[in-house]
Amino acid sequence: AVVVVGSCMTDLVSLAHRLPKTGETIHGHKFFIGFGGKGANQCVQAARLGAKTSLVCKVGKDSFGNNYIENLKQNDISTEFAYQTKDAATGTASIIVNNEGQNIIVIVAGANLLLNTEDLRGAVSVISRARVMLCQLEISPATSLGALAMARSSGVKTLFNPAPAIADLDPQFYTLSDVFCCNESEAEILTGLTVGSPADAGKAALMLMGRGCQVVIVTLGAGGCVMLSQTEPTPKHIPTETVKAVDTTGAGDSFVGALAFYLAYYPHLSLEEMLKRSNFIAAVSVQAAGTQSSYPYRKDLPIHLF
Ligand code: ADP
Repeated sequence: AVVVVGSCMTDLVSLAHRLPKTGETIHGHKFFIGFGGKGANQCVQAARLGAKTSLVCKVGKDSFGNNYIENLKQNDISTEFAYQTKDAATGTASIIVNNEGQNIIVIVAGANLLLNTEDLRGAVSVISRARVMLCQLEISPATSLGALAMARSSGVKTLFNPAPAIADLDPQFYTLSDVFCCNESEAEILTGLTVGSPADAGKAALMLMGRGCQVVIVTLGAGGCVMLSQTEPTPKHIPTETVKAVDTTGAGDSFVGALAFYLAYYPHLSLEEMLKRSNFIAAVSVQAAGTQSSYPYRKDLPIHLF
């Protein structure tokens, strides 16, 4: 199974012809609520590919929290360790998008930040029996680190996505990551290098691997990704499909979720092959609008991916 320890966020999206100024009230023309949060997004993609999944997370004891848990169940994700708290509201992202597609966003992490190491101890049975444990940085870093340590001590493969990135990441995040997967801007924040090409991404990956990970992957949007491993220590560029991108929001989460699926269920594949397939799946996700709503299901994907 794949266990994700991570975030759930309710996206509150208003479309308006322009963004309001300070103190101003304007009319928008459309509103919708979406399910987001990097932890849940990645878990949903892994589940839609056929992984048995469990999300260890915390939402509020409120309607957004109830709806989120219902959404996880609809995606066949185990919610046994989806905790609900009275002490904070479910995480939200309030988003305003104008006609040019520009946006302003306020994220309130809320209950996500209350997921703690005691909650992890409650979920030790599921974490220690997983094939892959995946976490990010939208929850308290101490909780993510605790999850990595718990998985490592049980021999569970660890996949870490340092997003959103923090410049002075605790060095243990590197040593506890079997697979460390970030995007260009996260690689820049973590290394101080400028990352705009596969060659740059290779340099950043070398620097990150020097900090103690077994495998480093840097994603490059339409450029695919670059991989580096202790066994193949020369950076390798893996291009992706050329597609017409409609909405790239959440592409990185689709990619990471797909990678978790392959690491857990197709461990005999080469890393390069897993990344080709993850590229393919993420490229499908950018061809439809929305985040989770754009993630493909196994039944809709070509058979050669499985
Ligand atoms: P993030 O969403 O974190 O910014 P990226 O933009 O690097 O992450 O995208 C992650 C992955 O999604 C890429 O490695 C690639 O496989 C796929 N992807 C993203 N944008 C495109 C695109 N325009 N065309 C094809 N694939 C894409």
